[in-house]
Amino acid sequence: MFLKRRMKLISHLQTDLNVDVALIIFPLHIYYFTGFLSDPHERFFALVVDTKTEKTTLFVPALDIEAARQVVDVNELIPIQDSENPYHILKNHLPNELDSIAVEKSSLSFLRYEHLKALYPDATFVNVEHFIHRERMRKSPDEIQHVKKAIEITEQGLKNTIEKVVSGLTELQIKAELEYQLTMLGSDGLAFDTVVLSGDQSALPHGTASHRKVNEGDFLLFDVGVRVNGYHSDITRTFVVGKSNNKQKEIYEIVKNANERAIERVEVGIPLKEIDIAAREYIAEKGYDQYFPHRIGHGLGLDVHELPSIHQENEEKVEAGFLFTIEPGIYILGIGGVRIEDNIYVTEQGKVEILTNYPKTLIEI
Ligand code: MN
Ligand code: MN
Repeated sequence: MFLKRRMKLISHLQTDLNVDVALIIFPLHIYYFTGFLSDPHERFFALVVDTKTEKTTLFVPALDIEAARQVVDVNELIPIQDSENPYHILKNHLPNELDSIAVEKSSLSFLRYEHLKALYPDATFVNVEHFIHRERMRKSPDEIQHVKKAIEITEQGLKNTIEKVVSGLTELQIKAELEYQLTMLGSDGLAFDTVVLSGDQSALPHGTASHRKVNEGDFLLFDVGVRVNGYHSDITRTFVVGKSNNKQKEIYEIVKNANERAIERVEVGIPLKEIDIAAREYIAEKGYDQYFPHRIGHGLGLDVHELPSIHQENEEKVEAGFLFTIEPGIYILGIGGVRIEDNIYVTEQGKVEILTNYPKTLIEI
C-alpha cells in the first residue's frame, strides 16, 4: 500500500510537476507514504524522493532509527544525530545541482526554506501538497477500519460518561471523565481538545469547556473524537440535562432533520454544495438560517479537518472513497445551541455508509 502510494507520487512528480526531487516533511504525509508514524518535534524528519532515479530516502532523527527500520521499506534510511547539521547530511545525499524541488508549502517553515535555498540557490520550489491532499480524500477500506475503531471508542466513551453526568458537575469535570473513558477504551489519543458546553455556553459553535456547573434544563453539547493508528473520529451529540422545554425540543428536531436530510442527499456524482444546501434550506424554511453560521461538514482522516470542504459554494463532486462529517447546528445566544455531527463514508463501490451509530433522538439525562 505504501509503495503504491509512493509510485503514484513519483509519477505525479515526473509527469505533472516536472521536478528533480520532492522533500516531504509533514509527519502525517511521511506516515501516509511510508507507514512510519512519528512526531519529530523540532528535529529534521523528511522523506526525499529523487524523481530521476526513483530512489526514496527517509531522513530520521537518530533516536527513531530502530522504530523506523521495523516499519519502512524505502530505499535508504539515514539517521541524523541531534549534534549534526541536517542540511549538510541532506546535501551529501542529494545531487549537487537541482533545478526544482517539490515541497509542502504550508508545512515548510520560512527558516527551513532559507536553509534549502542556501543549499540550492537557483532551485525553484513547487507545491506538492495539492496532490497529496487530493490523494488523501479517497480512503481505502483499510483506512476506514481505523476510523471505525475510533468511532466505536468515542461512542462508547460518550455513553459511559453520560451515565455519570449529574447537575453540579462542571464542564471540565465532565470532560475529564470522558477523556479518561476514551483512554481506558483504547484510543491512541484525542483528536482535538474535547468540547463540553452547557446551557448558554452551547450557543458558541467554537466554545471550550469551562468551570461552569451543569444545571437542570441545560443543553449539554459534546464534540469529541479520538485517534486510532493516525485516523480520527469527530462526533457531536447534544443532550438536555433533566426535562427539555418546548423551545429546546423544537431546535433539536430541526437540527436532527437537517442532519438527516443532508445525509440522504449524499450520492456519488452530486456537487458537494448540494449536501450543505439540503440542510441549509430546510433550516431556513424553519426560520433559523441566521443561527447556522458554518459549513455542513469537512473531510476527516489523518487530519481532523481535511479535504473535501462541504460548503454551499463547493461545486466539486462526491467521489467514492470520501469520508466526511455532516454537522448542522443552530446556536442562539441566551438559549443555547444544538449540533449533531455524524461521520459518513462513501465506499469504493459508491455506497453511502453512516459510520456513527450513537442515537440521534433527544436524550434527557
Ligand atoms: Mn466536531
Ligand atoms: Mn467536525
